[in-house]
Order: sequence, then C-alpha cells, then structure tokens
Amino acid sequence: MALIVQKFGGSSVANAEKIQNVCRIISRTYDAGNDVVVVLSAQGDTTDDLIEKAQEINPAASKREMDVLLSTGEQISIALAAMCLEKMGYPAVSLTGWQVGMQTSSDYSAARIRKVEGSRIRKELDKRRIVLVAGFQGINRYGDITTLGRGGSDTTAVALAVALKADLCQIYTDVDGVYTADPRIVPNARKLDEITYDEMLELASLGAQVLHNRSVELAKHYGVELEVLSSFSGNPGTIVKEVVKMEKTYISGVAQDKKIARIAVVGLENVPGVAYKLFSLLAKNKVNVDIILQSIGRGDTKDISFTVNEKDEELCMQVLQENQEALRFHEIYASNDVAKISIVGSGMVNNAGVAASMFEALYKSRINIHMISTSEIKISVLIDKGDSEKAMRAIHDQFFD
Ligand code: ADP
Ligand code: ASP
Ligand code: MG
Repeated sequence: MALIVQKFGGSSVANAEKIQNVCRIISRTYDAGNDVVVVLSAQGDTTDDLIEKAQEINPAASKREMDVLLSTGEQISIALAAMCLEKMGYPAVSLTGWQVGMQTSSDYSAARIRKVEGSRIRKELDKRRIVLVAGFQGINRYGDITTLGRGGSDTTAVALAVALKADLCQIYTDVDGVYTADPRIVPNARKLDEITYDEMLELASLGAQVLHNRSVELAKHYGVELEVLSSFSGNPGTIVKEVVKMEKTYISGVAQDKKIARIAVVGLENVPGVAYKLFSLLAKNKVNVDIILQSIGRGDTKDISFTVNEKDEELCMQVLQENQEALRFHEIYASNDVAKISIVGSGMVNNAGVAASMFEALYKSRINIHMISTSEIKISVLIDKGDSEKAMRAIHDQFFD
C-alpha cells in the first residue's frame, strides 16, 4: 500500500463527464489498496471567468477580495468530485485549503506555502476515505484566504506530497507529459520520458505552463519525483527527477513567454552609479527585472532597456516617471509587443555553437532579435510577439529534426 497524491488540472474536470473520468482514475488507485489524496483545479475556464466577473464590478479590486473570489472555483470541483465518488460507492471527503491547514505567506494572489498542518487529512485517510483537496488556495496568519498564483494547484499537490510523505505525486493534465515544446504550437514536439528538476524548473519559469514553477522548486528541494501524465490517454507520462539516464540532445526544450513588457530608459547620464540607482529603485518597489541591455555610451548619455512581467509594467512606468528628476533620463518607453523565446538544456554547457545554432534558425526565418540573455543551461531572446510561434517552430526544428 502506498500514499499517492494525484492532481487533476482544469481541463481534466471541465464538465460532468470529465469529472466521472477523473473519479474512475481515482477509484482504480484506491481499489489497488492505496491511500489517495486528490488535488483539483477549478473547472475549465472558471478562474478566467471569475476574473472577468470581478473586472465588470471593479477593475481595481483588492487582491484580498480577488483571492476570496478565485478560491471558489476549486471548491466547486472538490465538492462535485466528492459527490461523484459517493455515487460510485466510494468514501470521499472534500476539504478546502483552510481545512487542511495549508498555511501561506500573506501575499494575496501570490502567496507562498509556509507549512501544511495535515492532521485532518491523516485522520480522514485513517478512515480509508479518499481526500479531495482544493488546489491553489491557502490561509494566511490573519485567517484570510490566499491563492498561490495562476497554475498554483500543482504546487498544492507537491506541498501535500511533502507534508504527507507520499510515495508518488502524479500531475494529470491534458497532454501526455512534458514535451520538447508546447505540443499545441509545435506539432512535431516530442514527449520526454524523463527530465531533470533543473531543466523543468527553467522551462516552467520561462513560460512552459505544464507545471507551476514553484511546484518544481518544491519537488527538487524535497526530492519528490513527479509524474506528469494525461487524464485522457492512459499513455506513460514524463518523470521529473534529479538525474536522468542519458543526455540525448544538447537541449531538452523550447519555451515562450508572451506575458512580458520591454521598458526602455533613454538618455541616462553616462556616469557610474546609474544602473545601481535605477534597479535599486525598482527592487524597492518589488518590480522584478529580467533581461537587461545597456547601450554603449554615446558622449554624455546611454540607454538601458529591460524586460518585466506584463503585470508589473504599469507600476514600473509609474515609479520611473515619478523619479525622472532623480534618475535624470530623457524619455521612457514601454512595449507589450514582445515575446521571450528560450531554449533549455544542461547539455549546452559543454557545447559551443548552441547559441549560434539558435540564432541561425531565427535568421533563416527572418526574425529579428532585440535582446539576448544566457546562462549555463538556457539561452533567451526577445523578439516581436507576432513572430513568437514561428520562432518556436523554427528553433525546435533546428535542434530536434
Ligand atoms: P492543467 O489545467 O492540467 O494544469 P495547463 O494548461 O496548466 O494544464 O498545462 C498544460 C498545457 O501546457 C498543455 O495543454 C500545453 O499546451 C502547455 N505546455 C506548454 N509547454 C509545454 C511543454 N513543454 N510540454 C507539455 N505541455 C506544454
Ligand atoms: N485555477 C487556478 C488557475 O487557473 C489554479 C490552477 O489551475 O492551478 O490558475
Ligand atoms: Mg496548470
């Protein structure tokens, strides 16, 4: 007998038929003699629909109230699935984040899990019940509901697997596993049998939404092996773990991120301390900066451009405008019309020419590069948003065909 945590994403529980399908998977796991803890996401587009509802009432709603609203989606799913299991003759109980003691930081809409109390779940498991837990939500020290950020149910699942010392954590979704690129954009993407935590963490952080990046961080930290697999196909999935058998290719995947903005600060003084002043100001205002490019100084001035998450664009522009006098720049511009395309792979460290190969693919597709950033296991480029899908396919073909 084992303790298994199974997480099912929004498309896996989108309607009654799909909930029945999910409950069949759960019941089979239970019938095999396992203890089963299930984490569910909100059905289909529920979270997006709730955000839209809020926008109609108050586009500037407080994050606290947004979390109260958004957490309801997951609560619907667990209740419906519990009802479905009841009907099938299985003992099941649904529990919210608050009921399972999912304690988080107080950052509404982006809370981090601090501790999982877990005793309630253990009690229910001792009674041989299937426990259905609402994903994506927790409770902070004020007793308020928090959410973990979009896609956060994966992180709920891994946190429960850690707290309950589960033997297995399965992330069920609408694709067969982790692919070399989003299979909806790159039709000839290949499914990976295995991927390392580090590569998966990069891919997830660079835009591959198949796993929430913090779930991978947590899994790596506690050594929880993850299995990503389909709720629908029954095919073997992808195992995410510390070491994989062999490195077949230099790179393991291509990812895109369209939710970014480029900010250009033009006409800064060409003297020491300018970058320090600029970026410490942004850090103080909790604006996370990603790729940075500084021009060669021309005479007395230089320009610095950088990218931020699109949700930080407004705040970033406001902070810069308010500090124009102190920072002494001429102008600032923001553009949403950009995308970041990245390749990831631990095999690229020892292989010169990977970057050149990526740039060649873009050149052959006549795609212009605005910015470049590299690390030991990734290379990212900033390009026009309209070129994003074309670039994904071209780069993927360059390395995998
Ligand atoms: P869920 O609702 O199950 O959490 P998500 O929509 O969050 O599912 O994640 C699954 C989706 O991630 C897939 O449908 C796919 O389009 C997308 N995706 C992006 N990059 C990848 C990748 N490298 N491998 C697999 N899927 C990916
Ligand atoms: N329902 C939330 C979202 O859509 C959390 C999740 O699905 O993981 O982002
Ligand atoms: Mg998801």
